[in-house]
Amino acid sequence: MERYSIINEKNSREIVLLRGSGCVYKKCIFCDYYADRCSDEDENFRLNKAVLEKVTGIFGDLEVINSGSVFELDKKTLDFIKQVCKEKKISTIHFEAHYLYRNKISQLRKDFADFDLKMKLGLETFDCDFRENVLKKGIKESSPAVIAENFDEANFLFGIKGQTAETMQNDIELGLKYFERICVNIMCDNTTGVKPDKAVIKEFMQKVYPIYKDNKRTDILINNTDFGVGD
Ligand code: SF4
Repeated sequence: MERYSIINEKNSREIVLLRGSGCVYKKCIFCDYYADRCSDEDENFRLNKAVLEKVTGIFGDLEVINSGSVFELDKKTLDFIKQVCKEKKISTIHFEAHYLYRNKISQLRKDFADFDLKMKLGLETFDCDFRENVLKKGIKESSPAVIAENFDEANFLFGIKGQTAETMQNDIELGLKYFERICVNIMCDNTTGVKPDKAVIKEFMQKVYPIYKDNKRTDILINNTDFGVGD
């Protein structure tokens, strides 16, 4: 599995895919990547250290993902992220977290006070009914402003039956209104029962993608390995 990459487009940054103790939520029906986990902290640190040693600081900006939330990374890994970022003069660090960790984010920002922390939320859509009753995302809140309170960036998931060009564009517009940056992921085949809907994806590519493909605050991942990490 590829765990280090460089994103040259738009918000240029390095990206690492680390391993933690595993997603505590695990209920999102479209997700199977939470299988990238290990309960042995020393094993995780050994792996994560080797990945982080590849970071050069070329853009002064590092995105850290870990098939779950940053709060599932061990302390030695978190300390090593700080050490590497200081050494390589990286000022901006992006982390991901599920909404259930929202009250722990202010402490994390204090722990990383030397850096500009960008917290990314896996929101998938602002449509609360679709998000909770179909995707089972575990974010009961419906107010965009409240949802965005502790987060700077958000992931969206498109290409699923039930979505339309209108709902997808609405999500992007709200995303750009409430977050600094957004990342649109197109549903890809995986081991879950959720299948990419070809008609929805076609609609996205024809009617929505052309509007936002050059938007500097919007990343669009047609394949989930487009950032160069994962498998
Ligand atoms: S999408 Fe994220 S929060 Fe949901 S099950 Fe997968 S790893 Fe866990």
